[in-house]
Amino acid sequence: QRTEEKMRQSKYQLSCVVPVYNEASNVSPLLQSLQQVCERLNLSWEAVLVDDGSSDSSWDNIVRLAHGHSNLSAIRLSRNFGKESAIYAGLLYAWGETLVVIDSDLQHPPELIEQMWSRLHDPASDQGVEIVSAVKQKRQRESITREVAARIFYWLFLKSTGIDLKSSTDFKMMTSRVRSLYLSLPERYRFFRGLTCWFGLPEATIEFSPSDRPESGASRWT
Ligand code: UDP
Ligand code: MG
Repeated sequence: QRTEEKMRQSKYQLSCVVPVYNEASNVSPLLQSLQQVCERLNLSWEAVLVDDGSSDSSWDNIVRLAHGHSNLSAIRLSRNFGKESAIYAGLLYAWGETLVVIDSDLQHPPELIEQMWSRLHDPASDQGVEIVSAVKQKRQRESITREVAARIFYWLFLKSTGIDLKSSTDFKMMTSRVRSLYLSLPERYRFFRGLTCWFGLPEATIEFSPSDRPESGASRWT
């Protein structure tokens, strides 16, 4: 019913797709920052928050926030499926002409959305940029084990695919065409940052330094 209701409405200029797993204290500050940025850019926008089976009060907080924001869609997965599934579910539901995928733990600075927006809609760009990727200047503070594991993974990935994802993140802005292409892929197990790069569409990058997680919580990746 909600989908039909949305189909009758004009699309949003920007959809913010946000995977959430045990981020109870972060969802509200993130939403506030997204609102500030989108208001500065004067955009019609929506946030699509996907709770990926959180065991803390993330979902309760999302529902509470949804009561105060008509442009917030809340999706709850039945269990923890992993970030890739949460991103996929969010993109399926997002209706913007432009979309941005952003983490909910405040490690991806929402302010960067302004630069990403100008880069994607830059009339001077004759390349017709379709994806703007935020790339890490440096990896955030993390354990040696995790850093080594990440290095090995990206080295193997480069060797087997020829695609260098070392500094890449899932913080990406894209046109709705990229969204449609991504959703049309038959892959069952997805790798968002790899597949969006694999299309070979004109892409721009913007560097940023990821902040440390706001609370002591470690990465949610296993
Ligand atoms: N996340 C998720 N499902 C998971 C693990 C993580 O939706 O199973 C979300 C998490 O809430 C965060 C984002 O994905 O918004 C990135 O996770 P995390 O911060 O743990 O990854 P890292 O920053 O270490 O890459
Ligand atoms: Mg993080």
